[in-house]
Amino acid sequence: MYTLASLRTRHRIDQQLSHDLAVTENPRNRGQSDGGRKKRGLIETGRLWAPGRTLWISFLGAPDRKLKMSIFELACQWVDLSGANLELDLSEDDDKHAQIRILTGEHAEHNESDIGTDALASEDYTMSLNVIPGDESFESTVLHEFGHALGFEHEQLHPDATIPWNEPALFEAAKQSDDWSEQDIRETYLNKRPDNELIKTQYDPLSIMHYPIAAWMTLDGSEVVQNTELSAKDLEMMRLAYPHD
Ligand SMILES: [Zn+2]
Repeated sequence: MYTLASLRTRHRIDQQLSHDLAVTENPRNRGQSDGGRKKRGLIETGRLWAPGRTLWISFLGAPDRKLKMSIFELACQWVDLSGANLELDLSEDDDKHAQIRILTGEHAEHNESDIGTDALASEDYTMSLNVIPGDESFESTVLHEFGHALGFEHEQLHPDATIPWNEPALFEAAKQSDDWSEQDIRETYLNKRPDNELIKTQYDPLSIMHYPIAAWMTLDGSEVVQNTELSAKDLEMMRLAYPHD
């Protein structure tokens, strides 16, 4: 009956380490009211890179050149279409010093990425892409995973999202699946992230960072289709995250 897509979770890193790496890279990751009257949990910090820096991208295991270039060109849309203050550059294969290290081709089973500066804690790959250029999901997958690599999280968890979730149906679907737990349902769909006041755009169902939502998942049968390109608000978010000032 109700089926969930296979679950993608990137290994979690220690929260304190995640926070320290993020704030060292970009002090703004602390959030604007840090130190104010409200005590902030570590989870509320951002994981954005320092504006103006170059992020080097390296592919592991020397995949096909066409595959590499197709992925790299799509990734560059985040910067080129937004005009944000960040540079993406392609390094040689297997460059351990590249910030974004991509496992792809036959070695990649999943589509997943570390979020932003969490990549600094990874020792092997920071992104895995099980994609083939020309496939229906190629563009949406690559753009989405690079959104994570740039520090963005899932849009369905936006603090202002008002999705009328059919929670019993979601939990029932998890029960019938091999790899989803109730906790996974909460973390993937239900638990909105706190408002860290770091960058603020309106909730955007057209975001590439939004999971598709099937009609059975909501009480009113509303859906969100799989978005396949960067939305206007995705580009706005990118400019806010990586400003020129
Ligand atoms: Zn994702």
